[in-house]
Amino acid sequence: MRVGCPKEIKNHEYRVGLTPGAVREYVAHGHEVIVETKAGMGIGADDAAYQAAGAQIAATAKDVFERSDMIVKVKEPQPSEWVQLREGQLLYTYLHLAPDLEQTKGLLASGCTAVAYETVTDDRGGLPLLAPMSEVAGRLAIQAGATSLQKANGGRGILLGGVPGVLPAKIVVIGGGVVGLNSAKMAVGLGADVTILDRSLPRLRQLDDIFNGRVHTRYSTIEALEEEVFSADMVVGAVLIPGAAAPKLVTREMLSGMKQGSVIVDVAIDQGGCFETSHATTHAEPTFEVDGVIHYCVANMPGAVPITSAHALNNATLHYGLMLADKGLKAIAEDRHLRAGLNVHQGRITNRPVADALGYEL
Ligand code: NAD
Repeated sequence: MRVGCPKEIKNHEYRVGLTPGAVREYVAHGHEVIVETKAGMGIGADDAAYQAAGAQIAATAKDVFERSDMIVKVKEPQPSEWVQLREGQLLYTYLHLAPDLEQTKGLLASGCTAVAYETVTDDRGGLPLLAPMSEVAGRLAIQAGATSLQKANGGRGILLGGVPGVLPAKIVVIGGGVVGLNSAKMAVGLGADVTILDRSLPRLRQLDDIFNGRVHTRYSTIEALEEEVFSADMVVGAVLIPGAAAPKLVTREMLSGMKQGSVIVDVAIDQGGCFETSHATTHAEPTFEVDGVIHYCVANMPGAVPITSAHALNNATLHYGLMLADKGLKAIAEDRHLRAGLNVHQGRITNRPVADALGYEL
């Protein structure tokens, strides 16, 4: 198959669908790979690196779209990309179609077959192509929060790990899933005092085993939340109720009980956020202040570290990408997890939640 990778064109998107390492794997499977010139610049991979991996370099995105049977990207196609997709062409990327009627119409009109990273499943009921970005965001949350806690940035002016003779900062993580676990690992590593709240007792047991006494776990009730949030220096919002908007667990009223200069990092902001006072921000202006509490609410946190994020994403997408390239539509017919990823095929929506959200027939 001819596999194409255009340069990402969404604003401030520096990741790339195929790293040179991934290109080598596709080439080793006997595929031809066509990469747009400068596609890897955001992760420090130049055209020579792609050529060394076996790719051909195309001068334009048009060239990539025209010559490829399968397109591998990161972000959902932009309007200038929808019109370049064609009938029978495979598209493999993040799509997030449910809230995006315009893009959906564009993909339906193109006749392409689109597999969305975010709905591919695994045997454990997880979403393996979303997890690496949650790992990145979870770890980054502590770095971002630590910076915001510095006095010059409006924070309380407390060092996460303290020093000998001075207590460390207190970090509260709401939601102990992939983001929460990774935040806690970073926070513990830096010597902070960490508490994780979750609604799932089995998950709290698992976390207790993982950290072996180095974090406190607490069942998430209104009372527990209030107590923990009021005494925290940093709160990380990491809850997820699949398919739903994030619950507003920390109300505006609760915020007034928090310490002046404390910091919230609302990672769940891409699902609306779990603090009533949150609104999405960008890397250019990541924080704002409400009632003396610094809010960090960047909706695409992994974008800050494209080298790490692009490699983490490729590690997760490669397996299914190779299946698609090797077998084409047969791979989707044979593998139920890949089939769960199929969102659009021959002008029809093929994913139930997407169809329901947009009012289409399956
Ligand atoms: P996950 O499903 O692995 O974990 C979510 C956890 O929240 C689960 O353990 C669940 O039991 C817990 N939970 C649900 N309701 C709760 C409640 N009332 N109180 C406490 N815990 C509760 O999800 P994840 O992969 O960790 O993702 C968390 C959020 O981070 C999602 O909204 C995801 O979209 C978001 N995210 C954002 C970015 C970003 O750049 N901002 C990047 C990656 C992920």
